[in-house]
Amino acid sequence: MLTNDQLAHWDRESFFHPSTHLSQFARGEAPQRIITGGEGVFITDRDGNRLLDGFAGLYCVNAGYGRRQITDAIAKQAHELAYYHSYAGHGTEASITLSKMVMDRAPEGMARVYFGLGGSDANETNIKLVWYYNNIRGLPQKKKIISRWRGYHGSGLVSGSLTGLELFHKKFDLPLSQVVHTEAPFYYRRPDPAMTEADFTAWLLAKLEETIAREGADTIAAFIGEPVLGTGGIVPPPVGYWQGVQEILKRHDILLIVDEVITGFGRLGTMFGSQHYGLQPDLITIAKGLTSAYAPLSGSIVGTKMWDVLCQGTDENGVFGHGWTYSAHPIGAAAGVANLKLIDELGLVENAGKVGAYLRRAMTDAVGDHPNVGEIRGEGMLCAVELTSDRATRASFDPMGSVAPKVAGEMLKRGVIARAMPQADMLGFAPPLCLTTDEADQIARVTGEALRATLG
Ligand code: PLP
Repeated sequence: MLTNDQLAHWDRESFFHPSTHLSQFARGEAPQRIITGGEGVFITDRDGNRLLDGFAGLYCVNAGYGRRQITDAIAKQAHELAYYHSYAGHGTEASITLSKMVMDRAPEGMARVYFGLGGSDANETNIKLVWYYNNIRGLPQKKKIISRWRGYHGSGLVSGSLTGLELFHKKFDLPLSQVVHTEAPFYYRRPDPAMTEADFTAWLLAKLEETIAREGADTIAAFIGEPVLGTGGIVPPPVGYWQGVQEILKRHDILLIVDEVITGFGRLGTMFGSQHYGLQPDLITIAKGLTSAYAPLSGSIVGTKMWDVLCQGTDENGVFGHGWTYSAHPIGAAAGVANLKLIDELGLVENAGKVGAYLRRAMTDAVGDHPNVGEIRGEGMLCAVELTSDRATRASFDPMGSVAPKVAGEMLKRGVIARAMPQADMLGFAPPLCLTTDEADQIARVTGEALRATLG
């Protein structure tokens, strides 16, 4: 085995890490962690630390680490047939079975699932489907996409444009001109503290109407949103938001793309977030929980209304010119089949709802009274602790985003991984869906210790 020093050196000089401060990392100033194993909600690193992963990797290891049912299925598939493509009607038992399992679990009104590799490429696919759809309908002007500030939809060209965080735009020449952003449904950051939640929803809906009027409904093809804002702050929507948004979109013939990369397959305590909030999507983005990240796989679930037009498009224009070499990769598909079975067998969807609610209660008991905690929120197995320098004014720390990484660092020393959310004073939690109440208590206790160690 390589020594830690050798690996550490190669890492610094060879590896271009995503979402990393490149020069600090190369100079050895930014941290480095080499992960070696995982079991349940814990991971281990090469320095011998055992850490409770309060973020399930990147909200993705829904079934937990070290699941033999999934790894055996991957090994079996690799031995039998590691790869074949899915172009021109080809498939494998795993890819066909997985598509049936996904459609059996999908909300009503969905027709087919297209498989990709990750959430970003699934959203690239979605926007191409939307554009194709309106071209076939003879509406070539109707192409813009409305997204929300603080939304996260990936970091490709279109998907990075849909993302509503400056970090993913600045110096990349994004967002592309076809993407328009509207207000984030973030009640804690409402423009006027006197607003009730219902007032705030009404304000958000008015802003959306304004955006549509300004751009012209005949130029807007789709609206994209996560049921609960994820990377933008783990923010559940205010009361009545989704009902109001859907009513507006229907009135203006605007498609709804629901990005369920985080919420799909159980995280909110329902199979999909769409079911949790009564959404009727035209397209659903899936990834992460589809395979619990045991292998890369994503998907676009296409609603019947769009599917019929896509079929008409191929009758008029021939073969659908879209696909990746690795679409529906058999190893990813085998992981997906085993993972979805396991989620059912272990009752993880139900556990996410129950233990997620327990985690937020435990967190409130542990840190709810701390003067620098502005809010504790979440839904299902998602929890955020909003930090503020002044509870009364809800002011940010100076500079914004400087404190959460320190708290997360203190938590790491105490054996728990939390995520300091980007461009914010927030700690995020999205543990594996198999979390127990004892493990939830451990997360909450360590958050309290770390907060007091950092801020007093
Ligand atoms: N959509 C959402 C809601 C996400 O949270 C993410 C990733 O965190 C993506 C899309 C992008 O997925 P990926 O990183 O697999 O490209």
